[in-house]
Amino acid sequence: MTQPDCLFCRIVAGEIPATVVRETETTLAFRDIAPKAPVHVLVIPKEHYADVVALGAADPALAGQVLNTVADVAAAEGLDGTGFRVIFNTGASVGQTVFHAHAHVLGGVEMDGDLTG
Ligand code: 5GP
Ligand code: ZN
Repeated sequence: MTQPDCLFCRIVAGEIPATVVRETETTLAFRDIAPKAPVHVLVIPKEHYADVVALGAADPALAGQVLNTVADVAAAEGLDGTGFRVIFNTGASVGQTVFHAHAHVLGGVEMDGDLTG
């Protein structure tokens, strides 16, 4: 169900512009408005779920489609050879600010293994 007050539902609906890099029947990928790396793309299910846990519990196939789109975006951005990072912030305490499930796809720069920064 679309949530009228959800930023990413509004991007899916075309009410808020975004730089879309890939779209499938069930997923959308667009550039983060405040990129943290040379490549920073958000991949979302078009359907609203608050976070990746809710998505995986309700619709595992859709969660898999999100991951397939992550892989396609990484390849299209030239990251599949070099490696990239996929992050699903889950909960306000770890920095989730938009409560519509989304994968951050980050790459194009050297990263160390510190995941807690
Ligand atoms: P979170 O902190 O919830 O894991 O990630 C939300 C992400 O959405 C942030 O990286 C933020 O920069 C991005 N963001 C917030 N508002 C917009 C917007 O209007 N358009 C786009 N493309 N990204 C946004
Ligand atoms: Zn939403």
